[in-house]
Amino acid sequence: MEKLAHNYHALRGLTPYGTKFMGLVKADGYGHGAVPMAKKLEELGADYLGVASLDEAIELREAGLKLPILILGCTPALYAGELVQYNITQACYDLEYAKALSAQVQKGGGELCIHIQCDTGMTRLGFLCQEDCQDRSAREILEAVKLPGLKAEGIFTHFAQSDTSEEATMVQFDRFLAIIEKVKALGYTFSLRHCANSAATLLYPATYLDMVRPGIVLYGHLPDVSMDPGLCDLQPVLELKSRVGTVRQVPAGAQVSYGGTFTLARDSRLAVLPVGYGDGYRRAFSNQLSVLFDGQKAPILGRVCMDMCMVDVTDIPEVEEGSVAILYGSDGKGEQSVEMAASLPPATISYELLVTITKRIPRVYL
Ligand SMILES: *Cc1c(COP(=O)(O)O)cnc(C)c1O
Repeated sequence: MEKLAHNYHALRGLTPYGTKFMGLVKADGYGHGAVPMAKKLEELGADYLGVASLDEAIELREAGLKLPILILGCTPALYAGELVQYNITQACYDLEYAKALSAQVQKGGGELCIHIQCDTGMTRLGFLCQEDCQDRSAREILEAVKLPGLKAEGIFTHFAQSDTSEEATMVQFDRFLAIIEKVKALGYTFSLRHCANSAATLLYPATYLDMVRPGIVLYGHLPDVSMDPGLCDLQPVLELKSRVGTVRQVPAGAQVSYGGTFTLARDSRLAVLPVGYGDGYRRAFSNQLSVLFDGQKAPILGRVCMDMCMVDVTDIPEVEEGSVAILYGSDGKGEQSVEMAASLPPATISYELLVTITKRIPRVYL
């Protein structure tokens, strides 16, 4: 939890006084546990929480979170009553959807807070904002924000390449500014304009506008391995650990695990760890990754099973039943980073390794 606080303060240090801060806690807080992460962010002074779905938003409300919450994804208009009841802000991504939300809210009463979503180049959700669509979209946005039952507090867009391309990001940002201007010319201004995800928060202060919206950096990881770690002092929030279930002496020539993909070249001591792909410890790590015992690397031998994997501790005689293995993290002497694990073929990104750590792994908050 101190690491989350550290990263929060480091990021706040980048943004000028007055810039609001939305902490992203979707996908169960990037695998860290949405409720504890959200509570800590609320305590630290974040202004807004961002989630992907209605279920995620309700989970936070039922846990007592008071901060405004924005749902960035699709919520069927049929659930507009729940959005109002739980005081949740919904992304509004086209005129038809705005009309459906408005109609539904009018049936149940109350007012629904929305943020207009602009598609400036991500091609996922939002009013189209390419140059030749801007005039029409501005008129549609104006129509949407005036619908009864809706209160349009904000407008936002999402960058597709802010970690790798300044040029593409600035094209998106220019389109976003243009649409805001066009809607303003028609007579409507938004109090919260936001677009900066993690990469833009680190790289492009010009994009902060009224609020930043970082996710992965809060948890101490960079959006892309190509980015300079010197941009901000971030500390990984999560460590993944296991304890040795048992240690066995096995003769040379034995084939280890399913498929017999590894044959012992020497008499070996193997530690069996009670962790596998059923915990989100990827099968792709088979014969590729190591775990750490007190800074020393113990390579995974053979395939990672659903519930177990075997590591070579022949050269680490002090490892015994109950010894702690670090799967992701560092112990001061060595490091086994999520980024390094993610880079192994078939490569993925730290985001995916974090959010796929399954429920079976107990989360312990320090
Ligand atoms: C996930 C997401 C973010 C945060 O992305 P990071 O790369 O984790 O900072 C911001 N905005 C939207 C719309 C998102 O879906």
